[in-house]
Amino acid sequence: MPGFKIHITGSTIVGVAYGAGAWYLGGIPPETCVLAAGLCSVSGMLPDLDSGPGVPLRESCAFAAAVVPMLMIHRFHQMGFPLETMILVGAAIYLTIRFGVSTLLKRFAIHRGMFHSLPAALIAGEIAFLAFSSEQPLYRYFICSAVVVGFLSHLILDEIWSVKLGMFGPSFKKSFGTALKFAGPTLWSNVLTYVLAGLLGIATAQDAAWSEKTSIAKQQLEQASRTIQTTPTPWVRR
Ligand SMILES: [Zn+2]
Repeated sequence: MPGFKIHITGSTIVGVAYGAGAWYLGGIPPETCVLAAGLCSVSGMLPDLDSGPGVPLRESCAFAAAVVPMLMIHRFHQMGFPLETMILVGAAIYLTIRFGVSTLLKRFAIHRGMFHSLPAALIAGEIAFLAFSSEQPLYRYFICSAVVVGFLSHLILDEIWSVKLGMFGPSFKKSFGTALKFAGPTLWSNVLTYVLAGLLGIATAQDAAWSEKTSIAKQQLEQASRTIQTTPTPWVRR
């Protein structure tokens, strides 16, 4: 099993390539690319949240607790929260992730269970999509894909590490196939994972449709205000 350092190095390299590629080829603003690269790098630790108390769990929870409320600032703004409410909600999210989520994970997560699976990568992407909202729908997809790419880099590294190259060709360790999988041996965790992925999928689709609508409405409003500004008003009395 590759260690924490190998995972973070792998996902950082992938993240830098992802961000640089989007900036160079896609013309996406550099700050958005740096954010995507950073999130991809950190997401490379996410699957090992199931490995019990240790560096990946502690660091990932602390980092997620700090970053998730920041990602949600635009969201809070859309909801019309005043500054005080934003601070209070941000603090509540911090405490929930830092202490609530980390305790749950320590107690219930099984290593190489459904945290190491393809639907889990989808869940991570859906959460990122719901947390990060942007005026530009494309940037939203770009950011949530960064999380999925980072997550997948971890699963792929885990699989690569379970293949041993010997004198008589490659041999497979027992852990082979336990990372890049659709379902595990435990029924309840499979059901829970797919239900969660489905529910978050519905929320994501609804949110995508809603933000698409508001961004079109906003564009129309801006266009209308521009035409009003440029048309002379002939009925003004002098
Ligand atoms: Zn792993």
